[in-house]
Order: sequence, then C-alpha cells, then structure tokens
Amino acid sequence: MYNPKSMKAEEFIDHQEVLDTLAYAAANKSNAALIGDILAKARERKGLTHREASVLLECDIPGKNEEIFALAKQIKEDFYGNRIVIFAPLYLSNYCVNGCVYCPYHAKNKHIPRKKLTQEEIAAEVAALQDMGHKRLAIEAGEDPVNNPIEYILESIKTIYGVKHKNGAIRRVNVNIAATTVENYKKLREAGIGTYVLFQETYHKESYEKLHPTGPKHDYAWHTEAMDRAMQGGIDDVGLGVLYGLELYRYEFAAQLMHAEHLEAAFGVGPHTISVPRVKHADDIDPAAFDNGIDDDTFAKIVACIRIAVPYTGMIISTRESKETRERVLGLGISQISGGSRTSVGGYCEPEPEDEKTEQFDVSDKRTLDEVVRWLMELGFIPSFCTACYREGRTGDRFMAFCKSGQILNFCHPNALMTLEEYLMDYASRKTRQPGEALIKAEIQKVPNEKIKARALQNLEDIKSGARD
Ligand code: SAM
Repeated sequence: MYNPKSMKAEEFIDHQEVLDTLAYAAANKSNAALIGDILAKARERKGLTHREASVLLECDIPGKNEEIFALAKQIKEDFYGNRIVIFAPLYLSNYCVNGCVYCPYHAKNKHIPRKKLTQEEIAAEVAALQDMGHKRLAIEAGEDPVNNPIEYILESIKTIYGVKHKNGAIRRVNVNIAATTVENYKKLREAGIGTYVLFQETYHKESYEKLHPTGPKHDYAWHTEAMDRAMQGGIDDVGLGVLYGLELYRYEFAAQLMHAEHLEAAFGVGPHTISVPRVKHADDIDPAAFDNGIDDDTFAKIVACIRIAVPYTGMIISTRESKETRERVLGLGISQISGGSRTSVGGYCEPEPEDEKTEQFDVSDKRTLDEVVRWLMELGFIPSFCTACYREGRTGDRFMAFCKSGQILNFCHPNALMTLEEYLMDYASRKTRQPGEALIKAEIQKVPNEKIKARALQNLEDIKSGARD
C-alpha cells in the first residue's frame, strides 16, 4: 500500500501504486475535462500529485500540451525569474566497488586507469576552477570504503573551502557520493556541504537490482532510503535524480514524484533539486544495452511536467546534454546548469591523453565557461554565481518559505546581478563583458523595492571599483 509517511522504500515507492498511476494516466490521456481541471489546479502554483502530473505527462491533446509548456515557462519565470545558477562538477576519485552496468567506473572495468586526487591535486583543481570563475562545485566520487572513505571526502571538502583565490573562495560544495549512514551524513553536514545529491538511477526495484548486480549499491532499500538518513543527519537540502534511459520514463517520473511526496510528508520539506540526466556513451558500456532512451520531445515534456508538479524545486541539467537540448529546456524549468565541465579525475589541470581516459561519460556541451555565460545572456538569462541563501541559512523549509513569499525579485535578482558583475570584472572576455554590462543595467531596473534597488546600484559601483564579497 502506498504510504508517503512510511520510512520503508517499498511503501513510499509502492510498485502497485506506480502501475496504477500509469494505467490511470493512460486511460485519461485524452480526457480534456480532467486535464483542464489539473491545469487549473496547477495554475495555483502549489504543485500536483504524482497521479495528476502523470496525466499531464501522458496528455495527447495538442492544445492542452501547448498550455502545459506555457504554464511551465510561466511558473519558472514567477519563481526563479530569468536567473540560471552555474556550477561545475569536481571528480575526486574513480575507484569504485560497485557493479553499475551503465557506469564506466564499475569495479570490473579494467580499461580505465584508476585515479584518486591527493589533497594537493584537489587544491590545484579548485584553483583551476576558480581561475575560470566558478564559486559553486559538486564533488563526485565512486563508492570505495578503502580508497574513498568518508574521512577522505571530509578532508577534501575542507581543502576545497580552504583554497583562497584573489577573487574569493568556493562558496558552496554540493556532494554526490554513494548512500551512507546517518552518522556520515551528520559529518557531511558539519563539514558545511550544500546539497546532498544522490541519483536514484531507477525506482523500478527489479530493474534496479539487475542494473546494480554487485556491491553495496545493489541494496535497493539502502539506496532509496538514503535521503531519509541524510535528513535525519541534519542535511535539509537533498537533490534527487533518475538516470533516464535505464527504465521506462513514465515509471520513473511517477515514482520520483512519490519520493518527493514522501520527503514532504515525513520531513516537511521536499527535494531542493531534481536533476534530469540521460544515460550517455561511456567506456566499457554498450550503448545498445539501454533501449529505454528518451527522445528530445519527451525529455522537454518531462522537464515541463516536473516544473509544474514541484514548483519550488530547483532543476539541474549537466553538460551530458548538448547546447541545443539545454537551450530547449532552460526556459521550461531548469534553474541550474554546469559549465566548462570535465568529467575526468584531475581534468581541470591536465587534459587527458586519448589512451588514458578516466572520464565518467562523454560531455556533449564542451564550451568554456565564458562561452556558456555569454550564451545564457544572449538567450535573455542572468548567469548567477550567487550562494547567498546558504550562507544566510536559508535552506530546507526556510528556503521554500522564502521562495513562496515571492521575495526572489527583491533579493535573488540583485544578488545574482552582483555576482555576475564580479564575474564580468574578474574573468569575462571583452566579448562577454559588453553584453553583460548592458544586461545588468537593464535588469537592475526590475527590482521592485526602491531602497533595495538603490543599495544594489551602489554595490555594483563598489564591485566595479574593486570591492569583493
Ligand atoms: N558513486 C556515486 C553513486 O553511486 O551514487 C555518485 C557519483 S556518480 C560519479 C554520479 C552519477 O553519474 C551516477 O549517479 C549516475 O546516475 C551517473 N552516470 C553513471 N554512468 C553514466 C553514464 N554512462 N551516462 C550518464 N550518466 C551516468
């Protein structure tokens, strides 16, 4: 029986409830009256249940689909404005004891050289990222209790925050490491991490067990209940994700929303972010083994429906996706993107020789951060390096309350513009700086509160004269 309050994975992701949801959605995909009602509820911007959202995902009425995309765009604008937060992944180690069949880090892969960064190498990678202009990182590591124990991860976080640069320091480290214990989540929280990210890969238990045949990750309940332990350990920003292409997307979509409902029911706060990765070609992986790939139209619809279903949850897209795909979904709900990424261990300092690849998957968007920043501005977005919320303790339900109170234009908007000004002054090419200055000038006028606007204008002047946060 589906029970969102239960702490058991098989009850909050009840398989029969997912199947019933899919049957309900399929039966109602052309039901204009029901879809109209669901859209009316969605316009209240309080989100939808997994069943309602699944009907929208299935909807095959062209006019209603246009309404779905228009509403997603509107909700994105209302809650997030035109800001897009930028981050970069930092791969610490590709040692891994798991057997994930889609991941080149799987233990049996003998082709890739195994590599684990020393603290000195981490500091050098961070300096290289800071030289590009990054302020926010997501650390990634394989699961290996001997090579990558929690102490290694904690020490690495300390190293990252400790690297000082002439233009400041890394302000937020998000962490994407394997499911762990409440004790270890407490330690991560004490180390001052931002979001704890863990992709579910697939919510379908039977497939999950086949796709993760060996290693600690094989345990579906341990993995699926990880966010509960993270919350119990005091981490209130957690990031969900499924790896699209492994299982049927409809199943994943409904189950992921059930997971969000569970976190809301059990802890009073839903996921901080949802990532939407699609499986990519990688070393030692046969791409033909995954026949659940989703096309770009379906992908765009998934993004739009997630945006409508959980309006306060940030959405992340990585450089797994091409410039074109990213462009398409940015307006539909994405609020964070990575840029200038390397998915190999040590890749920011040294490009890898062709015959010694350690990257996790092929990157589609290979542009530099400067190019990504310029491109975002050309599309009318404000690239943001802001981390103010976390520093002021606005996480978890406090962030949600802030978001719901509609204060984004008064706070996030000017903060984003200030961090963009810092970026333009410290890192941008001339080609990027010019349109950037014009954008800031126009956007600052949108701040509704006159006092805040005047203060922001003064801050912008100070930044131009060399003041830094
Ligand atoms: N080792 C950690 C774990 O097991 O959760 C997390 C780090 S792993 C480096 C980050 C994510 O990369 C995985 O959760 C998986 O979804 C994704 N990934 C693995 N292989 C991939 C592939 N071939 N294409 C795209 N993404 C992949």
